[in-house]
Amino acid sequence: MNEPRIIDAHIHLYQSKEQGLLAKEGYEIWEYGTKDDIRFSAYSGDVEDALKAIEEAGASSAVVVHIPEEVTSLSGVMDKTQNEQTIRERLAGMGEMYKASNVWVCEVAQKHPQIVPFIGVDPWVLSTSEMEVHVREMVDRYGARGVKVHPVEQRFYMHDERMMPIWRTCVELGLPVMAHSGPARGDEQYAEPRAFAPVLGAFPQLPIVLAHMGGGAWRQLLEVAKTYPNSYFDFCEIIEWTGAPNAPTDYELANLIQNVGPERVMMGSDFPWYDIDHTVERLMELPLLSKMQKEEILGANAVRILNI
Ligand SMILES: [Zn+2]
Repeated sequence: MNEPRIIDAHIHLYQSKEQGLLAKEGYEIWEYGTKDDIRFSAYSGDVEDALKAIEEAGASSAVVVHIPEEVTSLSGVMDKTQNEQTIRERLAGMGEMYKASNVWVCEVAQKHPQIVPFIGVDPWVLSTSEMEVHVREMVDRYGARGVKVHPVEQRFYMHDERMMPIWRTCVELGLPVMAHSGPARGDEQYAEPRAFAPVLGAFPQLPIVLAHMGGGAWRQLLEVAKTYPNSYFDFCEIIEWTGAPNAPTDYELANLIQNVGPERVMMGSDFPWYDIDHTVERLMELPLLSKMQKEEILGANAVRILNI
């Protein structure tokens, strides 16, 4: 028997170990409540670390869902105390830096074929037409394979009118979209599963991956999955938090995967937050799912859903 193909559908990559560590320190994971025995990764998440982790897990490739964080969160621009006008003004001057970061991740992928690059887009940094030109250029010249957004960190809804032409471009170019999903602090629930309904409905040919299976808002996921066949999922993070107050138990997570359809779910680790090999172990430990279903979740589904 051949070993099943292992593909990590969701990792992050940083230009230096220092930058990776800063990103990990600055990203608070609050939505599941507290859990004592979380096994975080010791890696920082630069290219060397990522290649090592991919190899340790026996994976053939990993999708880097890139958000140029050095431009947004790490630069302090998204400091929650600032108002939207200030954020808009500061980010508007960072377009070139933002684009260069996407170029960087694609160049890494050209050197290391195990890396599959998804690029970031941000309506606060680039105008809609700048984003369109950038996405096309990244696909044509640099081999970008998809688009990543984090609506909570980036403070916009998927159906924001500035983004709708971008999703149209993604359909045209055959690019899947990977989006963080989960609750937000405050009133604006940018990325709870329900918030994806308008865009899933408007672009039935656009595959949208709801990362973390809704995270702390996982109870909303099944309804969205049943209504929109173009919604897909990865279970990174949530699979490490099972049993926490606002997370599902192992049984509930396996049941959710079974109900949305295991063929729509991909293995993701959210490296360097968690280790790829540990995420694989966690999947294998889940109840209810058959060995064959687990093996497809390990890699075959990503090949089909993300066109790898
Ligand atoms: Zn992530």
